[in-house]
Amino acid sequence: MSTVRDTFGLCCPTCGKDHALMVEITTMARLHGDGTETVGDEEWAIDSPCGCTACGTWGIVGNFIVSEGGQP
Ligand SMILES: [Zn+2]
Repeated sequence: MSTVRDTFGLCCPTCGKDHALMVEITTMARLHGDGTETVGDEEWAIDSPCGCTACGTWGIVGNFIVSEGGQP
């Protein structure tokens, strides 16, 4: 099974975990009378807000990029 660290090259700079990361995305949504339906691609970038719900560390995606040593 792939990990977030393997797939996206990201992990938490504080606790080192990669299973509880959140990122703010931009996408299109179709509006319906009873709600929304996301349509198309999701976009996020190195400066998108990002956080770890395991320990409460928040910042931007760039803060969570895994370096050569295995931690941001
Ligand atoms: Zn964390």
